[in-house]
Parts: sequence; C-alpha cells; structure tokens
Amino acid sequence: MPRPRRHRQIWSSFDYDYWRPCATCLEDRGEVVLKMEEMESIRLKDHLGMDQREAAELMNISQPTFHRILAEARKKIGCALVCGKAIRIHGGTYEMAVPPGRKFRCYDCQHVWEVAHGTGRPLNCPNCGSVKIRRAEDDRGYDRSGSGAHGRQGMHGMQ
Ligand SMILES: [Zn+2]
Repeated sequence: MPRPRRHRQIWSSFDYDYWRPCATCLEDRGEVVLKMEEMESIRLKDHLGMDQREAAELMNISQPTFHRILAEARKKIGCALVCGKAIRIHGGTYEMAVPPGRKFRCYDCQHVWEVAHGTGRPLNCPNCGSVKIRRAEDDRGYDRSGSGAHGRQGMHGMQ
C-alpha cells in the first residue's frame, strides 16, 4: 500500500533541542539529528510509558510507522550515547497538534477520544459502549503500574 505523506502530530514542544556530552566539549565527535517525531515517540512510549497503539493514535500514524519511528529514534540515541555524539532535535515531518479538548479513555478497549470543552462528560465509550471511562490525562500514572494494558512486553523487540 502506498504510504501517504502524513504529518505526524506532536503534542509537546521540547525545551531542549541540543545535548552534548561533557567529555567531548573540546573534541567534536559529530552529532545525530533526532527528528521531532522521533523525539515525540520517545516521549510517549519511553517517557510516559504509553502503549504503542495509544501513542500511534496520538501521533496520527499507524502502529508500524510508530514502531519504525521509535526504532530509528532509539538507534540514534544509542549511537549518540555509545559514540559520544551530540544530539540535535530538529526537523522532521510533523505538525503541532491542536490544543486538546478533554481526552477520555476507555478502560475496556483502551480507546482514547477527545471531547470539546463546553460539552458534557461522555457517558459511554464511543467505540465499545463501555461506561468504564476516565479522563485520559488523569490516569497516566496508574496505567503504567497497572497489570493489564501494558502486558505486551514481547512487542518491545526491535526486529
Ligand atoms: Zn471502549
């Protein structure tokens, strides 16, 4: 299937866009350039601990695309750490996501959706109809320590 040139949604701007290892301050070992969407994939998956499906959904891309972006990001960061290169966060194919309304998440099917401000709290998951829903922003902490949703550790492999 031909891949449409889709802009990846980025939900966070980053305060830092350049890292440089101390030991090489006087010695330039070069740098790797981490694209904005690669940084975002690291933020969502590795920093916030989201599962891949949710992260891909937030970035408006498919899971395989997310996986590819994340793998590339990890490879670059690994290269920088091992070889003492600087990391520059720059460029990519992305757009800043519009400021979100309220996000809700379904505990049953993990569907995440957005509800505009000023409308009432939804009663059901629009995907599966479950009433076990909750504000998505509020549950990040729990979710990571929970047992169910993130049990697919086998998916983390790089192959
Ligand atoms: Zn649901």
